[in-house]
Amino acid sequence: MAEIVIRNLRKEFGSFTAVQESNFTVADGEFFMLLGPSGCGKTTTLRMIAGLELPTSGQILLDGEDVARKRASARDIAFVFQMFALYPHMNVRKNIAYPLLSQGMGRKETRRKVEEVAGILGITPILDRPVGGLSSGDRQRVALGRAIVREPKAFLMDEPLGALDAEFREHMAEELRALHDRMGATTVYVTHDQLEAMQMGDKIVVMNHGVVEQWGTPQEIYDRPASLFVANFIGSPPMNFLRFEATLEPGATRAHLSGVDIPIPRLETGVSGRQLVLGVRPEHVHLGTDGPYRGEVIATEYLGTTQIVTLTTANGTIRVRAPSGQPVRVGETPSLTFNTATLSLFDAGSGQAMKVDRAAARAAMREQAHG
Ligand code: ATP
Repeated sequence: MAEIVIRNLRKEFGSFTAVQESNFTVADGEFFMLLGPSGCGKTTTLRMIAGLELPTSGQILLDGEDVARKRASARDIAFVFQMFALYPHMNVRKNIAYPLLSQGMGRKETRRKVEEVAGILGITPILDRPVGGLSSGDRQRVALGRAIVREPKAFLMDEPLGALDAEFREHMAEELRALHDRMGATTVYVTHDQLEAMQMGDKIVVMNHGVVEQWGTPQEIYDRPASLFVANFIGSPPMNFLRFEATLEPGATRAHLSGVDIPIPRLETGVSGRQLVLGVRPEHVHLGTDGPYRGEVIATEYLGTTQIVTLTTANGTIRVRAPSGQPVRVGETPSLTFNTATLSLFDAGSGQAMKVDRAAARAAMREQAHG
């Protein structure tokens, strides 16, 4: 299969820049998600990898060879446009065989390959059925079969599950991921759905306004967002942001939020009179009775095993994921304590994460816990 390296890839449409100097690497065999809101440049990036769009500048290295200016047909990459785009007048077997026959492969070899692929996808019993009467799931498997049969170096998929209802979508997502694991194929997959990206991807690149904001494993992106945009886009409810003005020395481990001393992960650089944003995930806030930093409960939302509690604080609204058994009432003013090692700090002006030493914060918390 294949490694895909994207280097300084840029795409302009006239005076509009759709993709700005993108850089990321899709390792061999990875399931790689391109994630971001509508219009951020995901599809344009995928189309450049496929060879359907010519980059303005930059490189696309497929197993070390720059294919950025090669024709789509010379790239050995399969673009799965739309799972349901099948040839309606052909049966399943002919639909899957079509790419091989049009490449000039012999009938006997084609038949063998089609049957092998049908076995992988579990559609052998329907090989001779017309595609017209098939269920959505089977149609999707046939469309995949047509992409797989060519044995391309990589698969590119653009929101392939977008048209499906929620339940079926989840089922097909699991099936697609299991198929990927069986074949060990390199897959680049476009989605605007952060949950889908987190569930399916080995790695995720998060894009915004044509810029790659961050790429990494789902956990890296969730735990250590590189920017306010990523922190807000990933997670449901999203990360909480508490704004405050700070003057802090390099190495500082405490900050003052509205006069209250809060432990923070150790800062690598200092700040002088700047607006910062403290980022904390809803599950990393503890509601208690003692502690000086307080908020007023304005709403609670019951979710079964957990509840989402919304509070106002001196630094903004905050949403907390608490056990549903914890009694919390609107109007109460519980204390808020944060899991220090999980906190993020952002520069409010640039929106970028500040460098912090989380290992030190984790060690300090362990020490505290052990008395
Ligand atoms: P969506 O999920 O809505 O498809 P996307 O992240 O895939 O969004 P793209 O389709 O890559 O976004 O589009 C990025 C930007 O480039 C958009 O503003 C779009 O209008 C613009 N764009 C895309 N193709 C063209 C084109 N051929 N000519 C001019 N502008 C284009």
